[in-house]
Amino acid sequence: MTLARPASRRAGAVLDRYQPVIGIEVHCRLRTASKMFCACSADFDGAAPNSHVCPVCLGLPGSLPVINRRAVELVLATGLAVEGSIPAATRWDRKNYFYPDLPKGYQISQYDLPLASNGQLTVNTSEGPFTIRIRRAHLEEDTARLVHAAGEDGRAVSLVDYNRSGAPLMEIVTEPDLRTAEQARRYAEELQLLLRTIGASDADMERGQLRVEANVSLRPVDAEAFGTRVEIKNMNSFRSVERAIGSEIERQAAALDAGEAVVQETRGWDETRGTTYVMRVKESSDDYRYFPEPDLPPLHVEAAWLEEIRARLPELPAARRERYRATLGLSAYDAAVIAADPDVTRLFESTLAAARGIDPRTVSTWVTGEYLGLRNRSEGPIAVDPADLAHLVRQVADGAISRANGREVLGLHVATGESAAALIEARGFRHISDAGALASAVDEVLAAQPQAVADFRAGKWQAVGFLVGQVMKATRGQANASLAQAAVRERLAKAGEGEG
Ligand code: ADP
Ligand code: MG
Ligand code: ZN
Repeated sequence: MTLARPASRRAGAVLDRYQPVIGIEVHCRLRTASKMFCACSADFDGAAPNSHVCPVCLGLPGSLPVINRRAVELVLATGLAVEGSIPAATRWDRKNYFYPDLPKGYQISQYDLPLASNGQLTVNTSEGPFTIRIRRAHLEEDTARLVHAAGEDGRAVSLVDYNRSGAPLMEIVTEPDLRTAEQARRYAEELQLLLRTIGASDADMERGQLRVEANVSLRPVDAEAFGTRVEIKNMNSFRSVERAIGSEIERQAAALDAGEAVVQETRGWDETRGTTYVMRVKESSDDYRYFPEPDLPPLHVEAAWLEEIRARLPELPAARRERYRATLGLSAYDAAVIAADPDVTRLFESTLAAARGIDPRTVSTWVTGEYLGLRNRSEGPIAVDPADLAHLVRQVADGAISRANGREVLGLHVATGESAAALIEARGFRHISDAGALASAVDEVLAAQPQAVADFRAGKWQAVGFLVGQVMKATRGQANASLAQAAVRERLAKAGEGEG
């Protein structure tokens, strides 16, 4: 008879006994005007089914493919951005399999000579920076889309939409370097940011432009050899990438604990149930009978072309974060938040340029605090004009309007689209901070509070605080407090001189 250990102890001890090994495969739709091997428009999202097709992408006999130069450039740019090696020449291969989403019966892909190999990407995790080796990035064509529906007679039918057939697709494969589900999520997020930054892809997971697959295996903590891996598909968000891997680690640990073998298979992620399920037994690459594509010439990557692509690369996210931190003095956290989203990056950069002479950290506070606060609370996207934000930041930094008023103006600017200057004027914020208006408010308060003025003269310094409070009250809290205090002191000093 064997005694089972309590379930809670077993679960908690998974990582004491097994080390997870994870490799990530990402497919991403490249941002090109036309498809990979024909002139059909690649802008087919939401279009009527089979409206973006031609003999080439329908795989009709006798049609011949032509290489999309832009797609090759985008993969090369990605390869350079992850510090990979680019071969002087490469070629295309046919990956053969039968399925209705593949009209030719083969997919044009790259097998043993990918456009980029041996790269790397470093991500920040809760346990510090972590570098993942990227094995390869290659170019291939996407397949058609199958829609499973009910036919007119109520029977199940499968419909094929060939719009996506032949769209350019990049596959990026890591080495099995990752050890936690968090590292996998952070890798996918950082890769998305990189692809968007260099303009290779819109990389929207919800729209299927970035598809993440995770290979997961466990090995005993003291073992060298990797265990049998399972491939997980159907993860539609970064959060589900992390959850799916976490759940799969638990499932495999339970199987191994029970003395069962892990089966090499492809599993899907069920978001609502929070578990993976069997999709199919994994094919091996032998099954695809890869061979060189006879209809396309080999591809030569000339050094000058590659250098041109390298020279056109924008500042990459890692370099940007480092510049924000080291040169602009932003906190690592703010630098990461601003660099994580190209829209936020643009707003920060443009505001900074328009707010010359203002401390970048002040601009950063407005962008990460006020702007992102408004954006998170809003249903859809919000628009902030960098020139208006710069004006606002400057007004607050100069003490012309209070921070609270500045915040209010930003909210109004987002809600109405009116300029910050016009809003400050209309709300009377400008008036309150206006030196003349403030002076007359101070005069009125001093005239109305002879006792406090006398107290001040008698050496009761606290009377200043009381008088400033009265000025704030008279201006309905809209005066800049430090300006008001300065004005009160100045006025009291002047009055003292006049009498003395
Ligand atoms: P396939 O030909 O099936 O795509 P690959 O050898 O190209 O398989 O590997 C696919 C992915 O699986 C890569 O990211 C790789 O790092 C990862 N991988 C390979 N072996 C393991 C393993 N034992 N455990 C986890 N991941 C693995
Ligand atoms: Mg693969
Ligand atoms: Zn076509």
